[in-house]
Amino acid sequence: MIPFLDLKKINLRHEQAILNGVHKVLHSGWYILGNEVKKFENDFAEYCGTSYCVGVANGLDALELIIHAYDIGAGDEVIVPSNTYIASILSISSNGATPVLVEPDELTYNLDPSEIEKHITSNTKAILVVHLYGQSCDMNPIRKIAKQYDLKIIEDCAQAHGAIYNDQRVGNLGDAAAFSFYPGKNLGALGDGGAITTNDENLFNKLCALRNYGSHKKYENLFKGYNSRLDEIQAPILCEKLKWLDQDNERRRKIAYYYLENIVSSHITLPFVQHRPESHVWHLFVIRTKNRSHFMDYMTSNNIQTMIHYPVPPHKQEAYKEWKDLLFPISEKMHEEVVSLPISPVMQMEDVKTIVEVVNEYRTN
Ligand SMILES: *Cc1c(COP(=O)(O)O)cnc(C)c1O
Repeated sequence: MIPFLDLKKINLRHEQAILNGVHKVLHSGWYILGNEVKKFENDFAEYCGTSYCVGVANGLDALELIIHAYDIGAGDEVIVPSNTYIASILSISSNGATPVLVEPDELTYNLDPSEIEKHITSNTKAILVVHLYGQSCDMNPIRKIAKQYDLKIIEDCAQAHGAIYNDQRVGNLGDAAAFSFYPGKNLGALGDGGAITTNDENLFNKLCALRNYGSHKKYENLFKGYNSRLDEIQAPILCEKLKWLDQDNERRRKIAYYYLENIVSSHITLPFVQHRPESHVWHLFVIRTKNRSHFMDYMTSNNIQTMIHYPVPPHKQEAYKEWKDLLFPISEKMHEEVVSLPISPVMQMEDVKTIVEVVNEYRTN
């Protein structure tokens, strides 16, 4: 079986460095918000090109804390793509604000800038852009709208670590950005982890308190905060893996372009790269096909694992049953047709070639 993602293989490349990092933290005797987290925050801010980085417990918390820190809550609206992973939307509702779903662009699967303006009201406070599947959103038109209506831009970078739009990394394209280091992401920890990047000093200071019970100084609580800190033991692991991120993304890109150039099938719609190659870091290689379950069964019978990102759109989830009658035709069609092929920095080109051959031989009858 060609696995969808071989996490063990990805991490075992760093076995010695990981063990050294764990050893260092163990022997430091300091396990929460110590020098290792500080070092990772500095390294990651530098990598993204931002002034600040705050390590937090996971990607959902990163989003939630940003929205909280900007005082976006009850009565406020946040624009978000209708086809995103549920976490982007949960971060808005958990703050008491209203997610306003907007249809994606059918080619890029990212927020369609021309759809945004008609959803802006006097209650809109922010646009939450999601660089879905690893491709940077088309930020220039979005920034123009945000500026015109005085809205914050919050980036969900959980799938796009390292992607570059107009010479700047994602995480440095809006007011604040959330990252996830969930093990399967392009930069993954050995457990949960997350970070926020920003150039906004006030926001940075507030976030440092918010993640730590709302406190800058022990036992003095400025805000009603959270306990959401990046684990000290994950920090050296992330520092090590960060050094390899660009190289890993380049390997993903090589596989993606091999797929793009060699898959030729009237049954398959390939992903579309809107800007230059560096704008996409290929967290997922998502194709579309009309009879998806038939295709997936065919792939399985040829020993190739595929996955769906995502099978059910947020507005059709039980958790958001109040939205069940809303119509998002582009999003719904996508969710019925998308299927992800294996892609990772440790895949052999041999396997990639096999996948291409199998896909090209796919017949619908
Ligand atoms: C993974 C992911 C998140 C959530 O990150 P966690 O660390 O799992 O909480 C948020 N948004 C998107 C788009 C994601 O893919």
